[in-house]
Amino acid sequence: MPFDRLFESQLENLKAEGNYRYFADLTRKCGQHPRALNHQDGESREITVWCSNDYLGMGQHPDVVEAMAQTARECGTGAGGTRNISGTNHHHLELEAELADLHGKEGALLFTSGYVSNWAALSTLGSRLPNAVILSDSLNHASMIEGIRHSRAQKVIWKHNDPEDLDRKLAALPANATKIVAFESVYSMDGDIAPIREIVEVAEKHGAMTYLDEVHAVGMYGPRGGGVAEQEGLMDRITLIEGTLGKAFGVMGGYITGSAALCDFIRSFASGFIFTTALPPAVAAAATTSIRHLKESGEERAMQRRQVDRLRNQLDAKGIPHMDNPSHIIPVMIKDPVKCRMLSDYLMDQFGIYVQPINYPTVPKGTERLRFTPGPRHTDADIDHLVAALEVLWKQCAIARATA
Ligand SMILES: *Cc1c(COP(=O)(O)O)cnc(C)c1O
Repeated sequence: MPFDRLFESQLENLKAEGNYRYFADLTRKCGQHPRALNHQDGESREITVWCSNDYLGMGQHPDVVEAMAQTARECGTGAGGTRNISGTNHHHLELEAELADLHGKEGALLFTSGYVSNWAALSTLGSRLPNAVILSDSLNHASMIEGIRHSRAQKVIWKHNDPEDLDRKLAALPANATKIVAFESVYSMDGDIAPIREIVEVAEKHGAMTYLDEVHAVGMYGPRGGGVAEQEGLMDRITLIEGTLGKAFGVMGGYITGSAALCDFIRSFASGFIFTTALPPAVAAAATTSIRHLKESGEERAMQRRQVDRLRNQLDAKGIPHMDNPSHIIPVMIKDPVKCRMLSDYLMDQFGIYVQPINYPTVPKGTERLRFTPGPRHTDADIDHLVAALEVLWKQCAIARATA
């Protein structure tokens, strides 16, 4: 094809850098999470997934699966339209009410993904509000960055998790600016958690709105799974809380929550909300079931925490360095893209352990890593097997040990 050379030359660069992405070909098996089949070279075998964002296995919870199957039988597959033109199903409204309640807000608005919710909400706020300035944490997710860029509003980047830097940057803005502070609670690559209280206090001092992405925290933090802001008792002080239904809730979709006026504003002006087909009712019903379950049940959260602690302690005991953080994410730093891919391949081939290498541009060059997300369904034996495998690799690859 005449244009293929253009495509291929860029792909060759990626491959030369070790940053070309290979996807693992998996078949998930309902009821067997974190086990899955891996297909390779015409064969398939059972492996254990160690990097899933279905953090609590809710995507295979019998009640959640049944809600999806039953609703599909009752209502069919698709929503039948955009939210505006015949696509608003009762299941969407039920889910939005559930989400508003989860975060203690007046309203909630559903999107087809968390990516779209960030993109649409930030681009609408930034483009519609008078003299908008968006103050963005330097490690914010791509979906927030793209939303801010699309808004064409002035953007100010503040130092990651640094309320003092935010304070200085807010103080430098003109009094007539509409200031929006955009940040996350759990940062998914380093697993660190924002000092939400300090950030909120700085924002309040300067009369700024707060926009909090709780994508990696909803379902997992707080007594009802409302996220880190719930855990810290801060939900009512945050203007907009954004989340996903695709990670700990195990389904798909994204959302924002906030005041009734804020949600009505986004509903009325956000292109990414208006001009796209609504989520299938069956997806909405499954998400509602998952959220309701995690509001009541702390069992999954407790077991996840236990297994996270267990893996950390065992890595420490073997001198395998991992990034220290207060969350459920355990990054093991490799700091080289080729080595990172090689270790990942070796774990899969030799030990049936699947952990995706995390390379640029997901993380900065030189900080390549393996990112483990233990869940309630990883057994003690799974953890022993993983740590034993890493120990073998560490010896073979002569990677410096924490104790060296
Ligand atoms: C995954 C992710 C999103 C996007 O959520 P999806 O529902 O997967 O589109 C948004 N923000 C952060 C921080 C994420 O990691």
